[in-house]
Amino acid sequence: MPNLDPNLTEVFNQHLTQIKPSQIRSFSKEIKDIPGLISLNVGEPGFNTPEHIKKAAMASIAENKSHYSPQNGWLELRQTISDFLQQRLHLTYDPEQEVIVTDGATEALSSTFLATVNPGDQVLVPQPAYPAYGAMIELAGASVIPLDTSPNQFKIDPQTLDEQLTAYPEVKEIILNYPNNPTGVEYTATELEALAAVIQRHHLLVIADEIYSELTYSLPHTSIANIIPNSTILINGVSKSHAMTGYRLGYVAGPAAVVANINKVHGYLVTSPSNPAQYAAIEALQHGRHDTEPMLVEYQQRRDLVTETLRPLGFEIINPDGAFYIFAKIPSCYHESSREFCLRLAQEAHVGVTPGSAFGTSGEGYFRISYAANLAQIKQALTNIKHFVAEMATP
Ligand code: PLP
Repeated sequence: MPNLDPNLTEVFNQHLTQIKPSQIRSFSKEIKDIPGLISLNVGEPGFNTPEHIKKAAMASIAENKSHYSPQNGWLELRQTISDFLQQRLHLTYDPEQEVIVTDGATEALSSTFLATVNPGDQVLVPQPAYPAYGAMIELAGASVIPLDTSPNQFKIDPQTLDEQLTAYPEVKEIILNYPNNPTGVEYTATELEALAAVIQRHHLLVIADEIYSELTYSLPHTSIANIIPNSTILINGVSKSHAMTGYRLGYVAGPAAVVANINKVHGYLVTSPSNPAQYAAIEALQHGRHDTEPMLVEYQQRRDLVTETLRPLGFEIINPDGAFYIFAKIPSCYHESSREFCLRLAQEAHVGVTPGSAFGTSGEGYFRISYAANLAQIKQALTNIKHFVAEMATP
């Protein structure tokens, strides 16, 4: 086993020293060997990829579609994405210049930050937030300005946004992630218009992570790109909508001037996206429009079951209108941090959830349940939580 030459002291990227490993993954690793653990801590759709999509991926392999695709993805896929965005979200993008295919939404996000920020820049991140944003922004040499959404039921309040941007006039980008991970919050068109007005007044570029856009319950999704297309970089993909997380297929759409730079970074990071994933995505977006519907029906039942069970037990839950997460408030009778609470829940009730602190300091006092797991597991987890709460209440 090679030990690093002790003379090589300068081989570490300085930004990395500030970046902590994702607490979602590290906490999940910490509890994974607890016997009988029911894991409700990962953002993984609880369904298999639909058969017709799998067949398309396998056919592409059988047909020797094994060569590099264009850097920005096959034109047929970019055209399909453009048609999908037009039909589902009424957005117009030129597949030649305004769309690129990436290795999941993750690579779309990291290429976007690398292409749009400079060392010392500031990016506003409403929190609680998906932890990868902070790490990606810091790796690109920029810094995060947080905006605590917890006082407004986890929605960004336009006035608070305006105040924060006035306090930090150097902020150049904002992340909007909705339906939101970890809170499940979705926005109405009217709410988005109010936010867009503030964003425009402060001349920000919006990085709109809409990866859960197909998973909304009471409202159809409205993209912020509908309101301010000229200042929005839209990030999406098929990971969540078609239960394809392991395929690694996402995309970026936005004004050509920025997309060209994102494509430059993307080319050096990944050369081109994987072929089987691209052919699978063509199939998913052309013929799998209805694949998400039965998943959505089930997710909604699971969501309702979790909220209806947890609320009477004293867990406050606000607005889970999309994605497959519930962000529950830990009742004040538990005098411990969210991490300690989640550790005890794992050890004593055998239920794995994610501490709210994994999503930034404004998530402290909460935990995230992913209800993408199957119904039987969710039911068992809820029974265990009921016993856990009853035992706590017994003097
Ligand atoms: N953005 C958010 C908000 C997510 O929750 C996730 C995954 O959980 C991603 C991006 C990453 O998506 P992908 O698997 O397509 O890279």
